[in-house]
Amino acid sequence: MKTRRDFIKISALGIGGVTLAGTSLKWAWGSGAGDPGPENVADLPSLSRYPTYCEVCFWKCAGWVYHDEEGKIRKVIGNDADPHCNGRLCPRGTGGVGMYHDPDRLKTPLIRIEEGGKQTFREASWEEALDLVAGKMKQIRDKYGPESMALFNHGSSGTYFGNLLKAYGSVNITAPSYAQCRGPREVGFELTFGSGLGSPEPTDIRDTRCLVLIGSHLGENMHNGQVQEMSDAIDRGATIITVDPRFSTAASKSKFWLPIKPSTDMALLLAWMNVLIYEGLYDKDYVQRHTLGFEQLKSHVEKMTPEWAYGITTIKPHIIRETARAMANAAPSVIVHPGRHVTWYGDDTQRSRAIAILNALLGSWGRRGGFYFKESLHIPDFPHPPFPKPAWTWKETLNGKYPLARLSVANAIVDASIPGEGKEHTIRGWIVSGTNLPMTMPQKDQLLKAMQALELLVVVDTMPMEITGFADVVLPECTYFERYDELRDSPGREPWLGLRMPAARPAYETKPAWWMAKQLGDRLGLSEYFNYNDYKEVIEWQLGQLGTSLEEMQKIGVKRFDRTEGSLYMDESLPVEFNTNSGKIELYSTELASLGFDPIPVYTPHPEPPQGFYRLIYGRAPMHTFSRTANNPNLVDLMKENSVWIHPSVAEIWGLKKDQYVWLKNQDGMVSYFPVKVRLTERIRWDSVYMVHGFGHRDKKLSLAYGRGANDSDLITNVMVDPLMGGTGMRGNFVTILTEDPGKEVKS
Ligand code: SF4
Repeated sequence: MKTRRDFIKISALGIGGVTLAGTSLKWAWGSGAGDPGPENVADLPSLSRYPTYCEVCFWKCAGWVYHDEEGKIRKVIGNDADPHCNGRLCPRGTGGVGMYHDPDRLKTPLIRIEEGGKQTFREASWEEALDLVAGKMKQIRDKYGPESMALFNHGSSGTYFGNLLKAYGSVNITAPSYAQCRGPREVGFELTFGSGLGSPEPTDIRDTRCLVLIGSHLGENMHNGQVQEMSDAIDRGATIITVDPRFSTAASKSKFWLPIKPSTDMALLLAWMNVLIYEGLYDKDYVQRHTLGFEQLKSHVEKMTPEWAYGITTIKPHIIRETARAMANAAPSVIVHPGRHVTWYGDDTQRSRAIAILNALLGSWGRRGGFYFKESLHIPDFPHPPFPKPAWTWKETLNGKYPLARLSVANAIVDASIPGEGKEHTIRGWIVSGTNLPMTMPQKDQLLKAMQALELLVVVDTMPMEITGFADVVLPECTYFERYDELRDSPGREPWLGLRMPAARPAYETKPAWWMAKQLGDRLGLSEYFNYNDYKEVIEWQLGQLGTSLEEMQKIGVKRFDRTEGSLYMDESLPVEFNTNSGKIELYSTELASLGFDPIPVYTPHPEPPQGFYRLIYGRAPMHTFSRTANNPNLVDLMKENSVWIHPSVAEIWGLKKDQYVWLKNQDGMVSYFPVKVRLTERIRWDSVYMVHGFGHRDKKLSLAYGRGANDSDLITNVMVDPLMGGTGMRGNFVTILTEDPGKEVKS
């Protein structure tokens, strides 16, 4: 195991430096058959098709995996019975097979060593790699206590490593999908309605008459069932209102496109409230029966007229009025969509609150065509002893910051991993599973400092992502086509159960995450928490408890259950109690007031771009899920690099041509590592540039993704942290354009 000093030495080269170490790797193809079909696997049943649910994003569409005549996995299609996809996978889901066939996959465990004064990896057996990780975890437990280990996760593997951490004695379990993505909306809606949204969000787009998208680009953000419902709603004549500085795919389907000045959405939301209230368009009966604080809200927004908002947002007053009336006309079958990636400006919980309040004024919560009451199955836990109670948790590391963080805040775990004077609690070891932190977390300097200081960094992944370059030990996970995973029980209109089973033996020397967690548990003396030999046993037991069986689920893939928790929409004949302090929908938040925060959202101006700089906006493409898929051969065929969208008037100033490669430099002097192609388009405001996130990989082991496009997260150095829940607002970064290769000037 390398020492702390060695780690500092390698990271001094920057992320690219670690890549250099990685390039000396020679992959072993292991003793496995390489690309085996089911005929090689004694314990896999011979089925004509194998049920799965997709892991390319986390919408979890259910599908069927097929082999060709030689027994090789060739195709995955949607399961007709599944409400997440209705039999149609999105391009990424269909192309997911590329993950299985990708020749760049991690193939065998790796251990960092020093060779001739250089850091590199060497191949290792599972026995050796797991012994090393368990031994180091024991040392950390003995020296600092088990709470000093943390888990960063995204996806199915988090369940198993989460259980391992809890059994070991730590609940410092975090996912960037909270504080770097949708956490603020969960808190904002919970403060208002007493219930968060979860995933999939319970938007009743199927029956809506008006859908309002604020910086949420459904269609490019290809969450399957939601996009299908939006398409059907458009066919039925629903009004779509899109608020976005960019003419997105959703904007092109909209009756109204509001090209708002970035960072001013709160002013628009407050002006919409003003129109609804002062034109008497809000749902008076709903507001009177179910809400608290209407009079305070009314007086709060009195002066926030469309004319007031025009000067801030650049949206004309008559458009603000017209769109507010369109919402009111459709109410209560209207959805002001809560969005998904909402960590923008640091006041994101408050902006999500404003969205929730607007929905409350329209009476859409708990109404057909608005938001339904979701329900999921309660899958029983496989029996195990109670988890030990940790002596401290991530909450203590916050020192009173972020009082409304309901889940662990990934950036706070990073901060807690940087030793410092007077710090009571310090994290000493990480397991990172399924999340590529260098491309996910802003504030790279903090991330690097934390990783330099760690005594153990274990990375579990299917691909050699940038994070693997920092690992002490790399554990290669098999793809979702090659493993059982926990049953899918995501919430929806009814409870649905989904099965994922292996359609092939794990290729090379890869293993399922459940197996790794169990092996580590056994080595750490925690076998009683992993009381099975194969995860199939867990699934069979759970299915039996739910009144079904593995045999049945292998045939049908997904199974619907009846609702048991009341109706899909609010029963107007019954009294309703919301899970807030007051039992009402809180337009005025009693919890925020008691904590000393604004009980009703206020508009705060955010910094403007300096002269010659443009606001950096980033988003998604329908054929990629961020950096996870950038090397997938099938999806690279559809989109191999990102481009930077620039308005022609800006291009003229800079003398830019279509498809010219440029570098971007941000307000702190950070320069994109690779050049990015210019896309000249009037679909973006002149004061902003846009790029798809997830490109610009620096790991040469990703042979298709390396050097393709630019990585926006390199340019996100200014982070505005949400004081309520710790979300990292990342839209306050500005870039200028470099037409010459900056060479040595590159600071990244
Ligand atoms: S939306 Fe697409 S990528 Fe996401 S789970 Fe469904 S098929 Fe897979």
